[in-house]
Amino acid sequence: MRALVIDDRDTNRLILLKFLAPWMVGDAASDGESGIEAFEAALQQGKPYQLICLDVMMPGMDGHEALAKIRRIEKDAQIPEQDQVKILMTTAVDSPNSINEATKLGADGYLVKPVRKTNLIEELEKLNLIPGGISA
Ligand SMILES: [Mg+2]
Repeated sequence: MRALVIDDRDTNRLILLKFLAPWMVGDAASDGESGIEAFEAALQQGKPYQLICLDVMMPGMDGHEALAKIRRIEKDAQIPEQDQVKILMTTAVDSPNSINEATKLGADGYLVKPVRKTNLIEELEKLNLIPGGISA
């Protein structure tokens, strides 16, 4: 499985890549623009990501904008819903408005930062990206 972590902070990217390492081959991008480039390149190479962890607060293109763009690219490419990438938003504050907006834009879940390994595993289980029972 392949994952892409998009976050403007080095430490956040490193932590998530480390947590994901047992299950996924991880790539990272430090802003929305390069994240979208990586996403599109993976699609074009026939090696799409199964998971994107996407930071909400980033300078330049923020996470919501990047999320909308990724879903637009998938729609334009006519990717069936079951093959669309799972997107987990990572957010510094547990902000209901931000989470609602992300859900409307097509996010599959969210993680509050600092991300805890158990929360990440729970979300991956919910999305059927890893077998259930690991977080139990
Ligand atoms: Mg950030």
